[in-house]
Amino acid sequence: MLDLAGAAATGSRKGVIGSSGIRGRTMTYGGSVMHPMVPMVKPALRRGWRDLNTVQFGMTPAHAMTLGPMDTATGSFLDLLNGTRGLELLRAEGRRMRLPDGHVDGLVTRLTRAGLLDDARGGGPRGAELRSSKDVLDRLRPDLASLSLTASEPGEAMDRLAARRSLRVQVRGAGRVGAVLASLLAGAGVGEVDVRDGGRVEPWDVAPGGLPAEAVGERRDEAARRAARRAAPARPPRRGPQSPSEDTDPGHSLVILAPRDDVSVHAPVPSAADDLIASGTPHLYTGVVEGTGVVGPLVLPGETSCAGCLHEGRADRDPVYPRLLAQWRSGGGKARPVPACDLALATTVAGLAAAHALAFLGGRTPSSAGARWEVSLPGLTWHARPVWAHPACPCGAAEKGKEGHTSMDGAAHETMAEQRPSRTSRRQADARPVGTRRAHV
Ligand SMILES: [Zn+2]
Repeated sequence: MLDLAGAAATGSRKGVIGSSGIRGRTMTYGGSVMHPMVPMVKPALRRGWRDLNTVQFGMTPAHAMTLGPMDTATGSFLDLLNGTRGLELLRAEGRRMRLPDGHVDGLVTRLTRAGLLDDARGGGPRGAELRSSKDVLDRLRPDLASLSLTASEPGEAMDRLAARRSLRVQVRGAGRVGAVLASLLAGAGVGEVDVRDGGRVEPWDVAPGGLPAEAVGERRDEAARRAARRAAPARPPRRGPQSPSEDTDPGHSLVILAPRDDVSVHAPVPSAADDLIASGTPHLYTGVVEGTGVVGPLVLPGETSCAGCLHEGRADRDPVYPRLLAQWRSGGGKARPVPACDLALATTVAGLAAAHALAFLGGRTPSSAGARWEVSLPGLTWHARPVWAHPACPCGAAEKGKEGHTSMDGAAHETMAEQRPSRTSRRQADARPVGTRRAHV
């Protein structure tokens, strides 16, 4: 429980609060430009009083927390922390409300430590740039509010949102899942979404949010890229002339493998990701096979299990699995019928895969690292199947595991240092600031 009312109650904590570092605090997160912080209690969290002196921020167990004891005057003061006043003005308001000296700074410090405070002008230079494009930011406001829920530092949400613009993601496969997924990433502000696939758009590729009916007969990759561009809130940033364009381009922050072929979804061919393993490019598998949607594993090469590990593990558990796989892949030499792919299931899978991708791109390690999330019709219960790193797989994840590193290790991704999407250390997706606790809701 954070004692926010302590200063008001005793009037004796001036010294402590005065040394908190908030006085004259400038925002340093996300860039070198210093500016005075403009505190804002995260508006994404609903507020309610649990009793006369305990405030609950947030409704859902994932993000809710309680603060108290808090006196009425401090509670009223929270309304002023709405991103319209800098610290100087807030201190003046505090004096007007006869709050003790230092109380405002103490409150701001404690709210910051609790992860409840954002900075209305935070996010560094790229945040300022995004803020200046009002039309673009208006499109992304719900995403910004959502990012604030998992951000611990003031200004971090804006920094992460603005950082998406410089990211390059490739989606391999432009069927019902891949094309929708590419559009979702572009719509969420990822600056460059490239789509790779062969052939031409078939009528059964068409999906709301993905390939439109007008694209039937056009080149699949071009049509999917165009759909993604249309979904984006802004035009993609210009690329330099030296930008490589091959599949093996190591400059992608993430590659998503979303094959249209059902066998490739169920049993991804390990060699198809050789370039990604070799270049240390993180990649995520997803797709629909029969009545089952799949998201994962997210592969951090050499750190977490890959498609080869998945294959070896299955062959261990079922000795006839390689024999079956060979038959599935050969397909009998005949033209295959259109594979089953429920439209709503495909859209769900695209959405969840995009959310895992965005969590990863935002510096977190989502639960698809080392696991495949699967959901099957008609029960639609999601469950995670672990994919263990296998000692026979050349990816080296099993070796790494033996050395004591875990897939969630904060310093795990040195190979991607140049493209690292976030300056924050990688943390587990449900990490929360120290000193806070979940509310019982
Ligand atoms: Zn492996």
